[in-house]
Amino acid sequence: MLDTLRRIVQEVNGARSLDAALATMVRRIRKAMRTDVCSIYLFDRERDRLVLMDTIGLRTQAVGVVTMRLGEGLVGLVGQREEPLNLEDAPAHPQFRYFVETGEERFSSFLGVPIIHQRRMLGVLVVQQQEKRRFDEGDEAFLVTMAAQLAGVLAHALVSGTLNRRAEPDGQAMFSGVAASPGMAIGEIVVIAPPADLDSVPDLIPTDPDAEVVRLHAALAHVREDIRKAGARLASRISTQELALFDVYQQMLGDAALGNEVEKRIREGQWAPGALADVVRRHTQYLERVDDGYLRERAADIRDLGRRVLARLQEGNELTPSTYPDNAILVGDEISAATLGELPRGRLAALVSIRGSSNSHVAILARAMGIPTVLGMVDLPLPRINGAKAILDGHRGRLFVRPDAQLAKRYERLIKEEQALAEVLEHEQHLPSETSDGYKMPLMVNTGLAVDVVAQLKPRVSGVGLYRTEVPFMMNERFPSEQEQTRLYHEQLSSFAPLPVVMRTLDIGGDKDLPYFPINEANPFLGWRGIRVTLDHPEVLMVQMRAMLMASRELDNLRILLPMITSVDEVDTALRLLARAREELAEDGIEVASPKVGVMIEVPATLYQLSALAERVDFFSVGSNDLTQYLLAVDRNNARVASLYDACHPAVLNALARLATESQQLGVPASVCGELAGDPAGALLLMGMGFDALSMNAPSLPRVRAAIRRVSIEDARSLVSETLSLPTTAVVRAHLRQRLNDWQIGHLLPPQD
Ligand code: PEP
Ligand code: MG
Repeated sequence: MLDTLRRIVQEVNGARSLDAALATMVRRIRKAMRTDVCSIYLFDRERDRLVLMDTIGLRTQAVGVVTMRLGEGLVGLVGQREEPLNLEDAPAHPQFRYFVETGEERFSSFLGVPIIHQRRMLGVLVVQQQEKRRFDEGDEAFLVTMAAQLAGVLAHALVSGTLNRRAEPDGQAMFSGVAASPGMAIGEIVVIAPPADLDSVPDLIPTDPDAEVVRLHAALAHVREDIRKAGARLASRISTQELALFDVYQQMLGDAALGNEVEKRIREGQWAPGALADVVRRHTQYLERVDDGYLRERAADIRDLGRRVLARLQEGNELTPSTYPDNAILVGDEISAATLGELPRGRLAALVSIRGSSNSHVAILARAMGIPTVLGMVDLPLPRINGAKAILDGHRGRLFVRPDAQLAKRYERLIKEEQALAEVLEHEQHLPSETSDGYKMPLMVNTGLAVDVVAQLKPRVSGVGLYRTEVPFMMNERFPSEQEQTRLYHEQLSSFAPLPVVMRTLDIGGDKDLPYFPINEANPFLGWRGIRVTLDHPEVLMVQMRAMLMASRELDNLRILLPMITSVDEVDTALRLLARAREELAEDGIEVASPKVGVMIEVPATLYQLSALAERVDFFSVGSNDLTQYLLAVDRNNARVASLYDACHPAVLNALARLATESQQLGVPASVCGELAGDPAGALLLMGMGFDALSMNAPSLPRVRAAIRRVSIEDARSLVSETLSLPTTAVVRAHLRQRLNDWQIGHLLPPQD
């Protein structure tokens, strides 16, 4: 059974259009369940009706014609109750409704199950049988499992407008994801494909099919040559039988085999990489289903050859800055923090990724760079959107593809208004960050990107509250050397001196991978991360600490911050290493003052160890991003649970308030460098709680400063006491918005619908 399920899901997954997916579904399910009829109805939200989308067994003329309201007929009942319905004698049910077009009167037994994705009913899957048959528990369980699995696939395929078959396929469409970096942009979509991964090659319609065919044959010829060379190299070491395999590969790559088929697919309207992926998929799916070990292995060979050809096709085909349009809206299956660093900043208007969520590091970087971004856009059909005009709304997490003139006008106006607000706020950026009654709230900046961008902020901030050293590490091809690091850190420290610069030791792991130091784990956020990695690799940490110390010579503004601290002994070990680094420098005649050292408060365990930590370090820096993820048990990188992730959850706010009070009692300065500090409402709460400094990405400074300057410290304190007793995140958010509106600073918050 499991095998059948898996096979059907795989096949549906491989279908290249919604229609093909639906057709596969009904045919395969009917066969697996040995019934007369299998039909699928999808819910058209605009029309508020379930629509028969495909059937095998009912009259095909009924497809697209038969529709029903929720609660109407048996199918409508399943859709309304969102529960399975299993009937031996369907016409006898009081809710039975007869649709003439279907020829349904012949069928007596009925089993219908809802298709639900993330709490939303997408449609209903039905099987029917002519003679009376009580579908048994096993049948019901099979169909429920099938529907649950297919829901994800369907949600992906279901895009706006698809349900309405008369709709212009190229008409305006809207897609939703997780708002990850604010701002709006109008531009042209550029789809980027990851290197040599057949499964994530997007479908694109070629502008010049002939050129694609030429490209294909060149790539095939290259791979044939590679394989010939590999065969020749191995000739003396392997048997003739094994060597014969190389001839098989050559044949597979020949024009008569793969070449012709891929070329045909290109002519049907698919670019070369997409056509190759289609053909490889078709062959491997077929071979994997055959009950023969030898043929199954050939499937693996075809995949491997396919990957090689793809790698050749992608060669020299990378998008270079000059090939980007001026206002590129970059769209990819996964855009990593490292990719982001390589993009031509000047032409990048916005970012969209199918994976990731609002607190992924790529989102944090995008915010720091001020690039409007939407992540977790799981329903986006990469096919057909390359080169399309689009609008990205980073506040509401939306992408409009091929917007009509009216929508484009509206967004042009909104963008202008946002620019106007930015200009107004700019005028007060040289003013101190203090409340209307003179309470000073030091603002600091988070850095890690090129210094020149933030150095001009020096007159406006009290220093750097978080320098994420992993960012330059991510943009390298190996660990940067001690000299390289020293140079980099010196640039940071000297640009801000005499203001303090808090440098965090390497915090990799989680969603921050170094290309040259991959970490593959089932639960990366609970795994080898931050200080856990660097304490296991003291050679890496020592180099980094020495570089930081060297760089701070004669500047004396270095502070060192340890990430992901869970236990006191990690602090002790790190401090020992730091002392050794200083001694080593002293032995070389380089005397460096002992820097202040702090720990990140981001693992909940540290909340209960504050006094032991206070005995060892000079300051606390709260990582509200991770503290939220760990307190709420919500992966910050997972779009599926994005709606559960909010630092304004009452539990997080209460933990923060207590932490602020306890740090004060212990006499240890505590600041916040997570994203909550850059949210105007969050910043007011943190100020009211008594934190000593707020550190945020540069683009957040103007709104936070403006908010602080328009309230009194008493206002902020009462905001805290009002908020802490509220029961849910939604109530907290509504209350914050209400209060900010009362103080006439509601416009500083991200716009809502
Ligand atoms: C945090 O966790 O809040 C933090 C500032 O660190 P990062 O986002 O880099 O994990
Ligand atoms: Mg963190």
